[in-house]
Amino acid sequence: MRTKQGSRILMECEVCGTEFLVWPSDKVKADKRGHKIRYCSNKCKGIDYTNKSFIKRMGKEKATEAIKLIKESKIEARNPQWKGDKVGLNSLHQWIGNRKPKPELCEMCGIKPPIDLANISQEYKRDVNDYEWLCRKCHMTKDGRLKRLLEFFEQEVNVNDKDQKRLRDF
Ligand SMILES: [Zn+2]
Ligand SMILES: [Zn+2]
Repeated sequence: MRTKQGSRILMECEVCGTEFLVWPSDKVKADKRGHKIRYCSNKCKGIDYTNKSFIKRMGKEKATEAIKLIKESKIEARNPQWKGDKVGLNSLHQWIGNRKPKPELCEMCGIKPPIDLANISQEYKRDVNDYEWLCRKCHMTKDGRLKRLLEFFEQEVNVNDKDQKRLRDF
């Protein structure tokens, strides 16, 4: 049980800059162990650990490149763009979307809710069977972006299983 020892201390996450509150008793405990409370979450802790371990293994320049690549792939995953003629594809997207309602679960993994309407043949046919609803992760895997990313890391560093898992979860 947590004992109340006055008000909590406001701290700033070293990774994302988010302010978070820490109980003084937790800070005392951390100080005793020689630890510093530096992150708002385990996610930020993981990001910092990954950054540092990449810098250590491949040097600052390559690590910066690698981290940029991860960030880009994340942005790309958040904003899937239709390739080629945008106007034509937007109306095609709409046409397919009207005829292929979003299922409850991703058509590939059947675990996560789908987010992207993905084209199967890459030919953008006006055919509902040429499209599937995928979650971001499956869409990325399918597009080969994640594969290319992992290949990049495998070439650059000896990526261990832990890193692989972490990158897949990014
Ligand atoms: Zn944070
Ligand atoms: Zn999926």
